[in-house]
Amino acid sequence: YKAKSSRTGHHVYRPIDDSHGDKRLRTLEELRSALVDDEFVLHYQPKIDLQSGAVRGVEALVRWQHPTRGLLYPDAFLAVVEESGLMHDLTQVVLAEALNQAARWHRSGKPLSVAVNFSASSLVDESLPERIGEMLRTRGLPASALQVEVTEDFLMSDRGRAHDILTRVRSQGIRIAVDDFGTGYSSLAYLRDLPIDQLKLDRSFVTPMTTDARASALVSSTVVLAHSLGLTMVAEGIEDGEAFAVLAGYGCDEGQGYFMSRPVPPDQLDRWLTDREADAAVGAPARRRTL
Ligand code: C2E
Ligand code: MG
Ligand code: MG
Ligand code: MG
Repeated sequence: YKAKSSRTGHHVYRPIDDSHGDKRLRTLEELRSALVDDEFVLHYQPKIDLQSGAVRGVEALVRWQHPTRGLLYPDAFLAVVEESGLMHDLTQVVLAEALNQAARWHRSGKPLSVAVNFSASSLVDESLPERIGEMLRTRGLPASALQVEVTEDFLMSDRGRAHDILTRVRSQGIRIAVDDFGTGYSSLAYLRDLPIDQLKLDRSFVTPMTTDARASALVSSTVVLAHSLGLTMVAEGIEDGEAFAVLAGYGCDEGQGYFMSRPVPPDQLDRWLTDREADAAVGAPARRRTL
């Protein structure tokens, strides 16, 4: 009973509610085994050409198929991954699986480009550009099969290194998008200096756009800004047909959102693509709501 009493004694000096810390520790242990046991899965959300309705590619979004807690979304675990220094490992897993799926799609006659999200911490690795190139080559994929999404915090974190790594990624022909544009410590300087191809406007501007004049003004001027810099503009968070139409009217190039499709497992995306082709063949509107 000695252990028990000492544990009880220890408890006295602990903060009253330590369940949070215990939970974090448990999550950390679980994350380590999740990486080993392959519990991370990717869902894919189409990126649609808002002018033609064509599918431009897909974004890979990670989920954790937890053995007891069910399917977990990034909000529930990415911060812990980051804190525990496991982001580099997760990025490797995600990148490999995204490219495996891209290769499957390419082999079945669907040359979809897959966009992968990179956090600031997973993009400090100097060997990343070469590793990405090697991963494409071993799968027989062209550079156009991969797109890299980075956030503004990365672009601002370590300018010299960020610039160098991105330049070497992009020099292989891989396109770079700035994710959640408008929410970070935005600076016009990086738009001038950094090697990027696309701005992805955060959905906090897009979703209220049809009811909020300021949000709408920001969206339309961001389209102009992107185009005058020679960049394409993507809007995320398109939840209805009105937002789709307004964005298309502003000249926005691409869009993502629940209106077209939620992020779904690859087999479901295949069915979505097939349905869409069938609709196109009978002349139904390409912007059909599917979910
Ligand atoms: P993100 O890259 O900006 O991805 C867009 C998020 O918006 C996704 O949330 C997506 O499901 C959601 N979304 C898409 N369309 C709509 C819509 O019409 N309405 C609303 N309300 N939401 C929409 P998700 O999948 O929960 O991912 C959240 C964030 O987690 C991502 O934001 C990204 O920053 C991060 N993330 C996801 N997968 C990865 C990954 O593999 N690696 C890293 N480093 N981060 C990831
Ligand atoms: Mg993204
Ligand atoms: Mg985004
Ligand atoms: Mg976002």
